[in-house]
Amino acid sequence: MRMVFIGPPGAGKGTQAERLVQTYKMAHLSTGDMLRAARDAKTPVGLKADQYMSSGALVPDEIIVAIIAERLRSPDCRQGYLLDGFPRTIAQAEALDTMLAEQGTPLDAVLELQVPEEELFRRLAGRGRADDTPEVIRQRLVAYRKQTQPLLEYYGRRGSLKSIDGLGSVEEIFGRAKAVLDGIRD
Ligand code: AMP
Repeated sequence: MRMVFIGPPGAGKGTQAERLVQTYKMAHLSTGDMLRAARDAKTPVGLKADQYMSSGALVPDEIIVAIIAERLRSPDCRQGYLLDGFPRTIAQAEALDTMLAEQGTPLDAVLELQVPEEELFRRLAGRGRADDTPEVIRQRLVAYRKQTQPLLEYYGRRGSLKSIDGLGSVEEIFGRAKAVLDGIRD
């Protein structure tokens, strides 16, 4: 299974992604994790990305697309993958479409995790990570609303988008995701 997992910051996407990749034997491609690793290793890309990440802004498309293009060529992606946190802009979605068309490997699913904004703010503020100041949280939510939400229409138009309610226990939400994905596989 090749899938995109979309959801705002604080929606619990990482937790669900972990479970989904185990259940469906997919490689877990989290651009946030890749960028944090690059930043911690102080690579040129990581240092550049940090300038954007630390304020809650999105990293420029060309940096992200180059990272993903390389990652999608790895052998572990042949068995399928879950894209977690990518694409986040229409330009990234178009770049992904081009890459997948070249490889002849279309997406099987685009899954959206829905959580109301007040709840996101509450959760993010409670997480207490160093990069989660109220202003950075606000910026990340604005970036989601302005730059990432248009993807819902992009994928919705072609009928590949499925949305699930992201409120409830980890178990309940996982059950909803599984029901959708099992329906697609059959
Ligand atoms: P995440 O862990 O997915 O919330 O990502 C953390 C931060 O990394 C984001 O706030 C962005 O600054 C950056 N980032 C991650 N993925 C992307 C992406 N696909 N496009 C642009 N920036 C990204």
